[in-house]
Amino acid sequence: MAILIKNGLVINQKTGAHSFARGDVLIDGDRIIGKGGDLSARAAAFQDLQVIDATDKLVMPGFIDAHMHSNEGFEMGRYDNLPLEIWLSEVYPPFGSPAMSWREHYLRAMLVAIISLRSGVTTLQDDVINISGTPEAVDATATAFRDAGLRGWITASMWDESYCNSLPFVGDLVPADMKARLDAMPAPDWKAQIELFEELSGKWHGKDNMRIILGPCGPQRCSEKLLQEVASLSEARDLPVHCHVLETKTQAVTGEEKYGRTLVQFLKDMGLMTHRLTMNHAIWLTDEDIATMGEARCSTTHNPLANLKLGSGVSPVRRMMNAGVNVALGCDGVASADTADIFVAFKAAAGLHKIGTFDYNDWISAHEVYDMATTSAARSSLMEKEVGTLEEGMLADVILMDKTDWGFMPLHDPIKKIAFSVNSDVVTHSIVGGKLVMEDRKLTTVNENDLRGEIAEAAAKFERDHCPEMSKGAAEVRPYLDQMYDTATTREIGLYPRVKV
Ligand SMILES: [Zn+2]
Repeated sequence: MAILIKNGLVINQKTGAHSFARGDVLIDGDRIIGKGGDLSARAAAFQDLQVIDATDKLVMPGFIDAHMHSNEGFEMGRYDNLPLEIWLSEVYPPFGSPAMSWREHYLRAMLVAIISLRSGVTTLQDDVINISGTPEAVDATATAFRDAGLRGWITASMWDESYCNSLPFVGDLVPADMKARLDAMPAPDWKAQIELFEELSGKWHGKDNMRIILGPCGPQRCSEKLLQEVASLSEARDLPVHCHVLETKTQAVTGEEKYGRTLVQFLKDMGLMTHRLTMNHAIWLTDEDIATMGEARCSTTHNPLANLKLGSGVSPVRRMMNAGVNVALGCDGVASADTADIFVAFKAAAGLHKIGTFDYNDWISAHEVYDMATTSAARSSLMEKEVGTLEEGMLADVILMDKTDWGFMPLHDPIKKIAFSVNSDVVTHSIVGGKLVMEDRKLTTVNENDLRGEIAEAAAKFERDHCPEMSKGAAEVRPYLDQMYDTATTREIGLYPRVKV
């Protein structure tokens, strides 16, 4: 099957300074084989050619959302005014964690897949927080993405440290009987986690546009053995590693309390600080941390929506970029970002960095955010030679936007318009791996209307059957987490003599 996208305004990508020119894009199979000018003659060679008239369209590579937790789908918009560690106890309670069927996992992931696709996301880097430690959640997620036609880079999030060992002070704050209950909860064995990774990788990696990558949940949540095992697997197979690092001040305190080092320096000592590492968030960094990250040429995902919602701080994006760190854009999970619409994250990133410094040369521009959501996001999962641009030979992940939308008038600079003037309704068509998955804002892969009822029902059942139990579990630990939070947030951190955020 070949597709000719005819006579559109096609992007010419140039880091930080993108432009558009009228022309065609030709797709054969899952690859782009031509871009620019009139490609009608070349296209005529294909018998099964589909032509899309793009006269009124902008033609661009699909967005890559570099950080998501689709498993939070049924809690979208449920929480407010909670910092990360307290919020975590609600969404991932130590007691009362919900058990779900394969179909419920599937529907929850499908909800996020549909919102993503409809906002122009063609690849989702999804960190499935897999509480049960079984294959079902990731298997159902990959199946949902495949069915929706979305490219999925998926981790089964790994951790093997106990609850009390993952948070500072908590082990000393909780009563003895609660500590015994927390310690008695089965912390997944590191070997079992690697085995699960191998099982999922064998089933999905490289098939149906899916990749299975390594996802230690956070350094403080993993044993040294698990982290070292992840480091050697990453090196042996050239696989990316996505890990939450220094999202909050509490985590900065954790580094000092648990390791006597910042978490960046700890990761370096574990052999993980390489160009294959992506640190999600990366807010509470020392100057030395930023230099270390730059030397390693590692990546970070910038998730402004979640950072704002959870009061985590402002990631020092400009300073990381200056040091050579690759910065990708993510929404983050839909219980903190509260949307999988990448346009919303785009706008937040394009606005947020204009506060905090009066030096406007250091502000982050709309064009830089565009790079974060395309080429840099691809790079953060080591896929920059496959997706993120419309060049010949790249995988055919292409979106079309309606340039007649009122918000695009006048169309002086479509990238600035995406940041400041239009919303994701402008995305009309989406092609993933050469397959048309959305046409005139209608998904061609799944029946959205049929799914709407089933997803709504499953979400309501989750709210009714699971949320009260989860809240109860969270309430048990809440007084001690509040004390922990107060201690951590008021503490002077010796490792951070000149911390800037
Ligand atoms: Zn996350």
